[in-house]
Amino acid sequence: MKILVENLSEEELKPLYEDPNQLGFGRIFTDRMFTMRYKKGMGWTDARIEKYKNFSFDPSSCVYHYSQEIFEGLKAYAGAEGQILLFRPEQNVKRMNRSAERLVMPTIPEEDMLQAIEELVVAEKRWIPKAPGTSMYIRPTMVATEPFLGVHPSSEYLFYIILSPVGAYYKEGFQPVKLYVEDTYVRAVVGGVGDIKTGGNYAASLLAGYKAQQMGFSQVLWLDACQHKYIEEVGSMNMFFVFGNKLVTPALTGSILPGITRASILQLAQHLGYETEERPISIDEVIEGINQGTLTEAFGSGTAAVISPVGSLYFKEKDYVINNNQVGPVTEKLYNTLVDIQYGRTVDPFGWVREIGKL
Ligand SMILES: *Cc1c(COP(=O)(O)O)cnc(C)c1O
Repeated sequence: MKILVENLSEEELKPLYEDPNQLGFGRIFTDRMFTMRYKKGMGWTDARIEKYKNFSFDPSSCVYHYSQEIFEGLKAYAGAEGQILLFRPEQNVKRMNRSAERLVMPTIPEEDMLQAIEELVVAEKRWIPKAPGTSMYIRPTMVATEPFLGVHPSSEYLFYIILSPVGAYYKEGFQPVKLYVEDTYVRAVVGGVGDIKTGGNYAASLLAGYKAQQMGFSQVLWLDACQHKYIEEVGSMNMFFVFGNKLVTPALTGSILPGITRASILQLAQHLGYETEERPISIDEVIEGINQGTLTEAFGSGTAAVISPVGSLYFKEKDYVINNNQVGPVTEKLYNTLVDIQYGRTVDPFGWVREIGKL
């Protein structure tokens, strides 16, 4: 794919963030973005790396009314030897196309999407933070842009990629989170769109998340939509429960997002000698495990935090504390190993890390 690259003059460049330890998440964006347009009959055209700026769309554009929108999330890491590293980006590309198919949006050739991500990250490499735990978040997005109020798949789309340098998730060390087990609202149903990354899933989750936060919880732990019984996932993370030497995670039923971190942890855990199980796990089994002391640790997994230890679950007006609200050894081991692989600090026996250039 030919990508037109816009060079910005010195004056057009934004000042770089001053303190990489104050970056937070998703507020600062780099100088340029990748954009590409689609029109029915013409396919994808006009691939370019251009100045980061506002878009202008007709108010009737499909995306504003019927949410035909998908996205991805991955990170670029500054490696120990000055390498620019991506973690399993081909998995994000495949998932983006699966999301596109589910919402009747056009797919993008895998090698083209990968090329767009890599060229943009390399072009914007001065923005990749180097402080411990920091990274550059990559957000590919596709929106339906046809100006038409009828409910139908749009005939025009914009695909774009923006980059955001992000701070360390655990600045003050690993902090176990408190989860609210939601037994009224649901996130997604089997047969719906819970297994793809589309904005509507998040819009639907906001009220429950907001209420849980008002009550002092970090996030909502979702149960299945039919029986309000089986664990689904949490916020933007998949869920793992540790029973001694065994990791249990909910099976991918169709309403759960198939996380790349989830898949990586399953593979890594087996490699490290843990047993793993993907199966339905009920909230009753979890609570019984906590009460009897057989459930020893719990954590969420996702690109942003990698692993987020869970300190307690609040369910039906009772608080259930896990491992004394401490980070357990299995969580710690998996986190350290995975992060070391992502930053190129240890051998990557799986071929997950992709070096795309030098800083
Ligand atoms: C993105 C996402 C995840 C985590 O996926 P990763 O590929 O591990 O980042 C989990 N749940 C939901 C709802 C998500 O959107």
